[in-house]
Amino acid sequence: MSKQKRPTWVGPTAKLVERIYGSSSPASVFLTKARTLVHDAKQTKPQIDPMALAAALNVRVEERKMALDGFLEKDADGTFLVVLSRDAGAQRKRFTLCHELAHTFFFDDLARSRAFRREDEYDPEEERLCNLAAAEMLMPFAMFNRDLLKLKETDGITPNTIFKLMDRYGVSLQAVSNRVTWILRDSACILWRSDGNAINSQWATPSTMRRIVLCQTGQTSVEKACSSPGRLFSAPDSFYGNDQRLIRRWTASWQMRSGQIFSVLTRKQAGRVDCHDTRPNASSSTTPPKEPTRHCEFEQQVLAFD
Ligand SMILES: [Zn+2]
Repeated sequence: MSKQKRPTWVGPTAKLVERIYGSSSPASVFLTKARTLVHDAKQTKPQIDPMALAAALNVRVEERKMALDGFLEKDADGTFLVVLSRDAGAQRKRFTLCHELAHTFFFDDLARSRAFRREDEYDPEEERLCNLAAAEMLMPFAMFNRDLLKLKETDGITPNTIFKLMDRYGVSLQAVSNRVTWILRDSACILWRSDGNAINSQWATPSTMRRIVLCQTGQTSVEKACSSPGRLFSAPDSFYGNDQRLIRRWTASWQMRSGQIFSVLTRKQAGRVDCHDTRPNASSSTTPPKEPTRHCEFEQQVLAFD
């Protein structure tokens, strides 16, 4: 996988944060604020309770029936209120609440600077910074990294690793995938959908993989997972990356209940993905390391996010 470049921040939020904090990168300022908040709310182990984070910031939280995932408003008395969609899944609500809490970090400063801009102007970088902060709140780096490395040592990095982390931290498949590939720079996570004979990526992280194309040979772990739900397959699959270059990575793939295939790509074969298929004439396929019922639980969480 090509080296991921750190983003350059150029928008009004980034400029404002830079003005307040000097040369610090806006991302590290948001991340530091998120870490301080988790510490102040005395959240020392997963799952992090976003309601405790809101309480530490003196932010009220309400749920309403609405199309939006959530929004933030400031009451006349100066206190913040986060409104969440009542019908959203639990993981989604947790992430949305943390995202909205991150918007409070520089709310007043940004509101002041917005007075000089068009009212409807929207800074996509502010949204990305709030997403980064939300990920840090729900998956604090120190604890998440410790858990990830422990799992990596015992099981390698497979879809099962990601499902375990989803379960432990109460976050979505995509949120965990983003976090894992941000920490393990040589890994990638991809969600595929089969469309007739073609298998196309739905999303991929890191973003350098977003136009990835599977080289379909009939023998890839992705294709095998596609035809056999409920079983984990791994193989050295080949892909075309964003720049059309051929890349070959050890790939572990699993078909989810939605029918989509989830793959984790690493540079090396996972340490203990050695759960050999016991069927007669089985070749390179592998079965998941835990009994299938366990996987059903994880699957439900994925669906809850969807
Ligand atoms: Zn936002």
